[in-house]
Amino acid sequence: MFCYQCQETLKNKGCTKRGVCGKTATVANYQDFLIWISKGLSEIAVKSGKEDKEVIDRVILNLFTTITNANFDDAQIKNRIIDTIDLMNSLREEKTYSDAGAWSSVDFSEIDKKIASHEVSILREENEDLRSLKELITYGLKGMAAYTRHAKVLGYEDQEVNKFILRTMADLLEEKSLDELIALTLKTGEMGYKAMATLDGANTKTYGNPEISEVNIGARKNPGILVSGHDLKDFEMLLEQAKDSGVDIYTHSEMLPANYYPKFKKYENFVGNYGNAWWKQREEFESFNGPILMTTNCIVPPKDSYKDKLFTTGAAGYPGCTYIEEDKDGHKDFSKIIELAKTCEPPVEIEKGKIVGGFAHSQVMELADKVIEAVKNGDITKFVVMAGCDGRMTDRNYYEDFAKELPKSTVILTAGCAKYRYNKLNLGDINGIPRVLDAGQCNDSYSLIQIALALVDAFGVESVNDLPIAYNIAWYEQKAVIVLLALLALGVKNIHLGPTLPAFLSKNVVDVLVENFGIAGITSVEEDMKILKIK
Ligand code: SF4
Repeated sequence: MFCYQCQETLKNKGCTKRGVCGKTATVANYQDFLIWISKGLSEIAVKSGKEDKEVIDRVILNLFTTITNANFDDAQIKNRIIDTIDLMNSLREEKTYSDAGAWSSVDFSEIDKKIASHEVSILREENEDLRSLKELITYGLKGMAAYTRHAKVLGYEDQEVNKFILRTMADLLEEKSLDELIALTLKTGEMGYKAMATLDGANTKTYGNPEISEVNIGARKNPGILVSGHDLKDFEMLLEQAKDSGVDIYTHSEMLPANYYPKFKKYENFVGNYGNAWWKQREEFESFNGPILMTTNCIVPPKDSYKDKLFTTGAAGYPGCTYIEEDKDGHKDFSKIIELAKTCEPPVEIEKGKIVGGFAHSQVMELADKVIEAVKNGDITKFVVMAGCDGRMTDRNYYEDFAKELPKSTVILTAGCAKYRYNKLNLGDINGIPRVLDAGQCNDSYSLIQIALALVDAFGVESVNDLPIAYNIAWYEQKAVIVLLALLALGVKNIHLGPTLPAFLSKNVVDVLVENFGIAGITSVEEDMKILKIK
């Protein structure tokens, strides 16, 4: 195996025997094969003009399945390989295809031989710079696919994004120059922005605009179900099915922003958020006592103490854990989880109190006058975008330290699970505006962009780069990659990215990003305050 798609990759070079995430070599190899034939399926669809729903849904699910921490189940991945090859065989015409497009066998002894030949590995591209850009685009597509699928299940999609995903997957099988790949990288960012806009529309039209909300972080005395991941439709279906069951529902990690949506607030058994970011789940899932539903990525290999209570659905999967299928109408039956919850002890309360969130674009626009006035009179001197992901490595303590050291005249704009490093620090407010404004999940970085664009208008400056905004973003997996590419495509400069720069960026690609966008890594809190001109 060789995998370097996430921030925790071994020694910031690559996982080669087993993933730091817990992914086995077998799973990693089948995921590489799944991506390779997904490119082949895209090629077939593009060449024959059959870029239809079945192909799009299949490619999007396959991309999503291979996101870090989403799916550890080799049996599920093998089934997706078979389904993909069956679809390829049904669509293939008398044309010339690449090796990937021509692949037709579902015999795993042949598939294993192909994997052993390294012809489907990331390292098959020998030129380090070409490989770097191809993987950067592929990881961007994985993030885009995740956002696209979340919108799709709510009935919203953008055909331009769908087609872009297929065409780019097919393009990645062809020889491309560095310049062509750089252009494709920026185009990927542009389409990523559209995918985020579509998901924002899907979420807000379905569940209302997120609003300022105090979220309970304590626990009640009823048995509960903990829901993690990002899929709001799964969350809604579970809430609805559990509403009269006597079982409480809590969010974990990236599902926290569900607490900000008006439509979910009407459920009396929706208690609040339990715990912190994804990487603390081994302790927090244990003390929760009840079953846990993982709707998307961010699974840490479970302890035996709760493994039989861990359920997965959608793109997520873990061997030995029950997978909840959806029927042909998109409905999921969560009764098994609800019945199991009734037999469990209530959660152990690990925290008490409330946290505040819900500062997505619509809510912030309502506060716009107050915010603009605070900037004009100098009460707010800087906005610091500290969005992105959290992770388990100790070097991420930097972000907590950075937040604590920020002057009291600064406001943190956040989205994604990076917020858990500072959303419980009680950083106070500026004229009633909290100093940590949480827009929501990682995809709600879209809101942060909307807020920045609104400030451009309000202050009459030429671009977002003229605003008093600094970017100190933490990344972990591929959804952060598409957010980063979207920011670059919008022309945002001087983004600081940490805790390490991606291992998949070659030195020359980093140089291009530094030269054109001023991208930089992080150093020390003190040094970065100076570099980012925060005082
Ligand atoms: Fe390693 Fe990250 Fe790949 Fe897991 S996803 S194998 S930790 S690089």
